[in-house]
Amino acid sequence: MFGLKADWSLDIKKRYFALGDYAGGEARWCPGCGDHTVLTAIQRICRDKQLPPEKTVCVSGIGCSSRLPHYMGTYGFHGLHGRALPVACGIKSRRPELDIWVATGDGDCYSIGAGHWIHAVRYNMDMTVLVFDNNVYALTKKQTSPTSGLGLKTNTHPEGAILAAHNPLTTTLGISNVSFVAQTIDWNPAHLYETIKAAHEHKGFSLVSILQRCPVYSPDVFQCLQDDPSQVLLLTDEKGITIEKNVARLFPNQQEHDPSNMSKAYDIAAAQPDSIPIGLLYHNPEAPRYEQLSSVGNDMGMEEKLTAFNKALDDLAI
Ligand code: SF4
Ligand code: MG
Repeated sequence: MFGLKADWSLDIKKRYFALGDYAGGEARWCPGCGDHTVLTAIQRICRDKQLPPEKTVCVSGIGCSSRLPHYMGTYGFHGLHGRALPVACGIKSRRPELDIWVATGDGDCYSIGAGHWIHAVRYNMDMTVLVFDNNVYALTKKQTSPTSGLGLKTNTHPEGAILAAHNPLTTTLGISNVSFVAQTIDWNPAHLYETIKAAHEHKGFSLVSILQRCPVYSPDVFQCLQDDPSQVLLLTDEKGITIEKNVARLFPNQQEHDPSNMSKAYDIAAAQPDSIPIGLLYHNPEAPRYEQLSSVGNDMGMEEKLTAFNKALDDLAI
């Protein structure tokens, strides 16, 4: 908040944001829900980076995780099912100076919002997109979602899901102009924090798949990974997600992976569900960003915009 200058006078910053400045309403997720740890990680990152709350916008669709904007002391937009990304892209295209966070889920993003997911990745607008993946539609009480594993018993498939899970990592890596793809787990706060921080620092569309515990409707799907961390493959590289040694040693199964290597990233992602990677799979900081290419007119005044609009109509009439 303040520090001593060389002349021993106090250097008091005009504004300092504490964790409480990023807190919204009381979180109403179930006890033990992984969403709590993600919310804490986001608030800590906002505090550590001193992001002005009035320049920060959290956007969501529908689902348990989509309640996140209510719990942040920032601007927010709780949208329609599957429509978080078009709302976020709309905000970013006209207000590129705002810091955009998106909270979505496996049902919200990978099913009903699948078309938006593909085009938003390709547009590569600068935003941090967190997909809370608990392998079910939880808000609507345990329906099969695109990432439900084969045989998972749900209310829509009481005898067990009849298809193997969709792999959102390989799909995202296959979209042209993809620039940042990472995966993490909610039950390791250090890795979660560093992954989301790296995603936020990336200038472009960063997609973070978060394996998120839902103790109510899918309590067993990630239990084996928690009981046996060797089933998780920790990706390491100086250009990837860096965590402290005492955290990394919790994962006996590790692999060096250069995140600029797309074909290797694809191979690692395709090994799911036999091997669950966490870390940075792919990063291309040079991918073009749509909000930069389409910024014409952003700084025009209303008069100027009206004149340009009328001219465009006149040109059409000729
Ligand atoms: Fe979290 Fe599951 Fe409860 Fe939803 S139903 S708040 S995902 S524990
Ligand atoms: Mg879900």
